[in-house]
Amino acid sequence: MQRQAWVLAVVNQKGGVGKTTTAVNLAVGLAQRGEPTLLVDSDPQANATSGLGVDPRTFPTDLFALIHEVVSGRSTPQITPSMLATGRPNLHLIPATIDLAGADLLLASQIARETILRQILSPLRDCYMWIVIDTPPSLGILTVNALAAADGLIVPVQCEYYALEGLTRLLQTVELVKRHLNPTLEIWKVLLTMHDARTRLSEQVEEEVRKFFGARVAQTVIPRSVRVSEAPSFGQSVLEYDARSRAAIAYAEFVEEVRAYASSRTW
Ligand code: ATP
Ligand code: MG
Repeated sequence: MQRQAWVLAVVNQKGGVGKTTTAVNLAVGLAQRGEPTLLVDSDPQANATSGLGVDPRTFPTDLFALIHEVVSGRSTPQITPSMLATGRPNLHLIPATIDLAGADLLLASQIARETILRQILSPLRDCYMWIVIDTPPSLGILTVNALAAADGLIVPVQCEYYALEGLTRLLQTVELVKRHLNPTLEIWKVLLTMHDARTRLSEQVEEEVRKFFGARVAQTVIPRSVRVSEAPSFGQSVLEYDARSRAAIAYAEFVEEVRAYASSRTW
């Protein structure tokens, strides 16, 4: 392996904007490029886990179990990449279960509770080229852990009314995390999702978001496509379910943008 994994967290505390879809397709797309990738499902809804067709009960571990191991005193959890295989080449997973909904309570009284995920991922950074974290729709402890563990953020923004609403709070949280926990954190890409070229609204939102975030907005825009919403029920990313659909082509382009951004960065 030439380098340690880049850790990317997919965040937006607004619900239903395309975080999970983006995390899953980014991870699958990077793996399809032959680059060993770990997807971390850090949302108790476990949509990234089920979206890959994984039943977490068949897995030897899950994120809540790992968090539990860390807080119960064993310094680093005994976790090896072979435990995390998904059956897809180059793609591993730390699944989520509904247990993760108890993480808030479990972590509330812990010292360094914001950096538990960073501790868990630290030894795994040598095993992958990419670690992609899907986060829940909140700015709670799980999301803060993802922000503290990440090098870069991917922020999906749905082309909808009030698209920018709440992003100021996200940016404030990012600034706080930078100041106190993770000084090198940065937003890598803002990604416009569910774009409908037929509507003036999508165009307006795109214009507004590009004005606000400038060059951080990905060139690629993800179109709204029924293929995307069908894919998870087959336990597949849209890249696998219908690689020739417009949304799959767009996600493949986005993967290239992320790879290009990474290679433009220096350690
Ligand atoms: P949550 O905040 O609940 O975790 P999320 O931000 O992870 O949601 P997704 O689950 O990725 O959002 O997407 C929300 C819904 O929109 C899902 O049903 C998904 O299939 C659908 N969806 C996402 N992207 C697209 C798209 N490009 N075209 C059509 N449907 C989409
Ligand atoms: Mg989600």
